Amino acid sequence: MKDRLFNLLSLLVFMAFVVMTSFYAWQDSRRIKHFVQHYELPSIGMALAASLDRTAGEYLRISDELQRDDFIRNWILEGEEDIDLLRQFLGDISLRFRLADASMVSDRSETYYSDDQRIVKLDPNNVARDGWYYLYRDTLRATNIDTWYYAEEDKLHIWVNAPLFDDTGEFLGLTGVGVDTEDFSNLLLAYSRLEGFDVFLARVDGQLVYARDRQLLAEQRNFNDLWNIDLNSLAKNQDSSGFSLINKDDTGAMLWVRYMEAWNTWLVVEKTAESVQSRINDSLKSSALLSGSLGIFLFLVIFSSITFARRQVDKNTLQLEHQAGTDSLTGLFNRLNFSRFVELELTRLRQMQGVSAILLIDIDNFKKINDTYGHPIGDEVLRLVALTLKQNTREVDIAARFGGEEFMILLSGASLKIATQRAEQLRLAVSELALPCLPKEVRVTISIGISLLDIAKDNPIDTAYREADKALYAAKSAGRNRVVCL
Ligand code: GH3
Ligand code: MG
Ligand code: MG
Repeated sequence: MKDRLFNLLSLLVFMAFVVMTSFYAWQDSRRIKHFVQHYELPSIGMALAASLDRTAGEYLRISDELQRDDFIRNWILEGEEDIDLLRQFLGDISLRFRLADASMVSDRSETYYSDDQRIVKLDPNNVARDGWYYLYRDTLRATNIDTWYYAEEDKLHIWVNAPLFDDTGEFLGLTGVGVDTEDFSNLLLAYSRLEGFDVFLARVDGQLVYARDRQLLAEQRNFNDLWNIDLNSLAKNQDSSGFSLINKDDTGAMLWVRYMEAWNTWLVVEKTAESVQSRINDSLKSSALLSGSLGIFLFLVIFSSITFARRQVDKNTLQLEHQAGTDSLTGLFNRLNFSRFVELELTRLRQMQGVSAILLIDIDNFKKINDTYGHPIGDEVLRLVALTLKQNTREVDIAARFGGEEFMILLSGASLKIATQRAEQLRLAVSELALPCLPKEVRVTISIGISLLDIAKDNPIDTAYREADKALYAAKSAGRNRVVCL
């Protein structure tokens, strides 16, 4: 019953900790997600957006200047003849604004001209080299910022493209301002390499123009397909802060998305699902570890205190039982306990057949000792005689104080002959006992009456006691300090 209660209690404590741990883990995962959404992602996104805006502002101004100048427009309209003149013009621009390159494309001749001597005849079939132009011509025809990441240089190059139209609005081609955006590149790369984050740039139509994963660019992946989100619907939903937060419940990823007006480009910062999950797992692990160890600790405390309490109770019970069964002065069994042993011995004898002997022992002239030396000395003599009796009996034999200065010994399995020998030994041992509490010449002696515990007799116990008493009386009458067996 006690054990069941204890097991139930342990189970309850354990379950309480499981519930507590789960609750804290759930709260922690909400807190982590909230922190990522409202602090981490926006702070990274805003820093990148600010840097993008600064960079764009600078180069859009250069592009604007190129547009306002009629030179290129006229050069195309006049038949693209004096190439040196064009190169010189582009070279000046490049030098003046410290550009990586200044270039233009004529749609009429489908030719790319650059300040660095390059003239390239564009080929619509060469998508890897010239695809960017045909995409621009066929879908954009607006100022855009095209980014190219060169893995071997680990650098992001930016081209600010602006369309050229004639007076009737016919598309003539584009001007391109090439920039090595050292600072911005570094920032972008640094952020996209942040543990658990990824940064993307996507054109207005959703096609990715920057991604750390080059494979996505090679496959010309589109934002809308990649995340299954319609960018146009996002633009309308952007709040006053200018960005959208998207929780991808299906994958667990979190996105911060902002449309960069000047770039005509989407900036996306992603907190990857794995990193959110791994942070949640980390926190789960530590809270589980904490509450788990707390649980185990509490469990052990409860367990050990209950065990300790039980042991204490057992020990006390044992002590009480022992005290109830022994004589406090001599430490021998008391009369009650002796009777129990005799009952047990009788049962044993009934099964095994045979006899056991009982010795009834009485200290001779004990009253005189008390009277002469005082009661405390009498007590001391009682203790010493009891000790001698105990020391001179076997483990299996039961020695008890029967009352006053009388003792009983049960000699298990002993015949009269053996009992007589043992009784003699005891008598001798007591008579030779040195008693420090008494004058040297004073000796203490005992008289012993022997009887047999015999199952063949009626009332074997009573008979044995009576016969032992008779024998003892005989021993006293015969002059004491002797063993008598009737
Ligand atoms: P006998 O040889 O005939 O046995 O003489 P006795 O003096 O030993 O017998 P008696 O029965 O006249 O005296 C026993 C005495 O033992 C009387 C009693 O005061 C004393 N006695 C009994 N129990 C104790 C005890 O616990 N302590 C002490 N000091 N004396 C005790
Ligand atoms: Mg007596
Ligand atoms: Mg006596």
